[in-house]
Amino acid sequence: MTTVTRLRAAGTAPTAPDSYGSPYQSYVYAYPHKTSYRRLPDRPALRSLWAAEPKDALSLYLHIPFCEVRCGFCNLFTRVGAPDGLTGAYLDALDRQAATVREALGDAGDVRFATAAFGGGTPTFLTAAELQRLCDTAEHRMGADLRAVPLSVEASPATATADRLEVLAARGTTRLSLGVQSFDDTEARAAVRPQRRADVEAALGRVREARIPVLNIDLIYGIDGQTDASWLRSLDAALAWRPEELYLYPLYVRPLTGLGRRAQGADPAWDEQRLRLYRLGRDHLLAHGYEQQSMRMFRRADAPPQGADDYACQTDGMIGLGCGARSYTAGLHYSFDYAVGMHEIRSIIDDYVARPAADFAHAEYGRRIDADESRRRHLLQSLLQAEGLDVAEYRARFGRPPQDDFGAELERFADRGWLDGTDTHTVLRLTPEGLAHSDAVGPALFSPAVRAAMAAYERK
Ligand code: SF4
Repeated sequence: MTTVTRLRAAGTAPTAPDSYGSPYQSYVYAYPHKTSYRRLPDRPALRSLWAAEPKDALSLYLHIPFCEVRCGFCNLFTRVGAPDGLTGAYLDALDRQAATVREALGDAGDVRFATAAFGGGTPTFLTAAELQRLCDTAEHRMGADLRAVPLSVEASPATATADRLEVLAARGTTRLSLGVQSFDDTEARAAVRPQRRADVEAALGRVREARIPVLNIDLIYGIDGQTDASWLRSLDAALAWRPEELYLYPLYVRPLTGLGRRAQGADPAWDEQRLRLYRLGRDHLLAHGYEQQSMRMFRRADAPPQGADDYACQTDGMIGLGCGARSYTAGLHYSFDYAVGMHEIRSIIDDYVARPAADFAHAEYGRRIDADESRRRHLLQSLLQAEGLDVAEYRARFGRPPQDDFGAELERFADRGWLDGTDTHTVLRLTPEGLAHSDAVGPALFSPAVRAAMAAYERK
């Protein structure tokens, strides 16, 4: 499982704003969600899209769409395994794309990357030699100085081998995120993420030996058969490694995933279990020296302050390379086609790998971001952080306070006790219960147009 901003999967299309329903509507890690993207008939040239954009603090994201297994809860853009030669061909295509995109960005002097991340899928599905190539593409083609900026990489326990970690550490990785999910073998099987605790512990040992400054561990709650006691045991097993960061994810059952084939629909008892385990986990981590950054993210209070995820600026541009990556300019979010079903994913990857360099010079799927969507995006991304939204910053960017734009929505959150009522002219901050309901708060702020596009999206 992955944690970089970008890569996270949403649930189903959200319900209307005043009927909040389940606290688990969807995980809003990026707005608007990719299911609201559509084919761009004019295929705008990247050169013109980026011409007037600020390019001195870009984020670089490289997407590797391969995993050893398909976890039952996962709807990320990834395939299981790679037939002979596919990873090499994919890296060739990534390099071609990088060369084309870099050229489209223009003058070398204007372009600087402030953060970098490798996500997936599982970037460490690549061999050590392939990871060197990946770093070369980021450095030599794109001009990102990987040793000088935060570089976050996602890994699975089985692929976090000593030789790969050595390459990643040497090339400047500052944060390694390990998808553990559960330290309980039975729970791991129930989430269709089969792995043995002994292997997970060994992988954590290797990550610590590699001396990458920030270790993040992903855990999941709400698994079939998980109890308060077994959840606390998993948390304690993670805490024993003193990770600088922990992400606690509620389990989602999503269409077209391994678990999604079994059951869907409202399940108040399951909501109740997840909320209880969330509160238990949150309180446990707070009592063990961690600070809450968002509903999912906790950071050790004495950890070095820098992982790529720290960099949550709402305005800066993002360059995503690879067939599942998104890119953001102020006025357009774009990507390639998107799918969850294995057959469709394979054909999108095959299409990507076969493309000549010139094919990467245009945006093909995306969504235009108008002034209203920019304001929503800013509000969403700030409000879902524990520190909240700085009202002066919002006003400086948009010319008026957020209450003028989203008064009705904010009032509804306040009525539910989700919005901290103290000093709302300085900061808009969710209460602890508001944070617990982040996956209902976020979707309630989606625009009608985005909501309609997500609902009309045909899953494949
Ligand atoms: S390791 Fe599992 S959760 Fe992570 S991207 Fe692969 S299939 Fe999804």
